[in-house]
Amino acid sequence: MLVSLRLKAPVVLPCDPACSVLRDAVVDIDADGRIVHCGPSADAPELPSGAQVRELTGILVPGLVNTHAHTPMIPLRGLGGDLPLMRWLTEAIWPAEAKMIDRDSYDGMLLGSVEMLRAGVTTSVEMFFHGEHMAQAVLDTGGRVVLTPGIISAPGLERLGTWQQLAEHTTRWIDTDGLRFGPADRIELGYGPHSAYTLPPEAIAEISQMARDRGALMHIHVAETLAEDGKQREEHGSVPQLLEKIGALGGRVLAAHAVHLSDADIEIFQRHDVAVAHCPNSNAKLASGTARLLDLLGGNVRVGLGTDGPASNDDLDVWDEVRLAALLARLERGDAAALTAPRALLLATRDGAAAVGRDDIGALEPGRWADVVHVDVDSPAFPRGTEAPDVQLLSNLVWSAAASQVTDVWVAGQHVIGDHEPTRVDRAKAQAEVRRIAERIAH
Ligand SMILES: [Zn+2]
Repeated sequence: MLVSLRLKAPVVLPCDPACSVLRDAVVDIDADGRIVHCGPSADAPELPSGAQVRELTGILVPGLVNTHAHTPMIPLRGLGGDLPLMRWLTEAIWPAEAKMIDRDSYDGMLLGSVEMLRAGVTTSVEMFFHGEHMAQAVLDTGGRVVLTPGIISAPGLERLGTWQQLAEHTTRWIDTDGLRFGPADRIELGYGPHSAYTLPPEAIAEISQMARDRGALMHIHVAETLAEDGKQREEHGSVPQLLEKIGALGGRVLAAHAVHLSDADIEIFQRHDVAVAHCPNSNAKLASGTARLLDLLGGNVRVGLGTDGPASNDDLDVWDEVRLAALLARLERGDAAALTAPRALLLATRDGAAAVGRDDIGALEPGRWADVVHVDVDSPAFPRGTEAPDVQLLSNLVWSAAASQVTDVWVAGQHVIGDHEPTRVDRAKAQAEVRRIAERIAH
């Protein structure tokens, strides 16, 4: 395929397994939005006439992947701010969610998608309600989503329908529109059974079968806090054991949080290739605990990073997760090399994509979608700019850079953030809509 756009920068981080640092390099993109070449300028193929070249001054990285979010909850930010998980859910969040209407999922997702894109997060794995509105919001901003509409049976949320109705709705949607649709496969659908404490085992078993029949992702909360699943632990030992027993682990499964796992639980994840969305900020804020990241990685469990919902983090900034994941892993082992800066960066990119079962995003490699982020280095975070040696440059990026240094973002080669601002939607208008929803929920 012919190159239609070349992005050129002093540093390109393709996020290959070695986390190579390419100097004076290019990313070539075809008209469909796929990468056709990534490498040093000196080796770059000749450009066809008419191809556009964009010269940038900083670092190009793949778009970050947020593997666990409930982004339309943006209007609920700050509610029940200092409560532990179960009180936070039952006293603050579920009553507020009960006041949200269909259209709120659009407005919340729109502003959240803009927030993520501005931070260089091009893909998020979402669990929330009224999925059609969420899909439309992402199509409007130009982002990318793996959308697993929530399936839950919880007090106050009965108006959403029974778990059977919610699951069947997703099945009909997949069977009508396909597993992936939209320009450049921007939307992928999956199933979002909330958890083993909000659904009966037969529901999870049935939903997992629906997901497997369609090759779809099943995205479920597992072992987030010690208190949530007392009943399941008593009856089955643990939620992973329960999931294995009911045959729910055969397909593509993404377990969010997975904080309180025994060695036997980790073995279950290995046996069934269950991936984990590690959400250190949310787990710290709700005092839920710290997931055994190094044990999971050591056991070759696929792990990505997630922010969780904007009401429990309270941001959608995956750079923050990169830092906290590395900090907690180092503290746990008492070893500053326990999780290096490049390894932490890969968790948010290549590994995040792999955790979701996607080999078409998360790295700047031929054949993958050109989801590309430009990080400006004209900042105190980069004292030597791009002239720093590789190790220092990666340290600057991981430890000191901030989401605010992301200036430009492309999704499948389409320029969706330019000079910090969305190119396709009005950010002030999106902000005003969310304020309106937050006011309504408050009264
Ligand atoms: Zn969650």
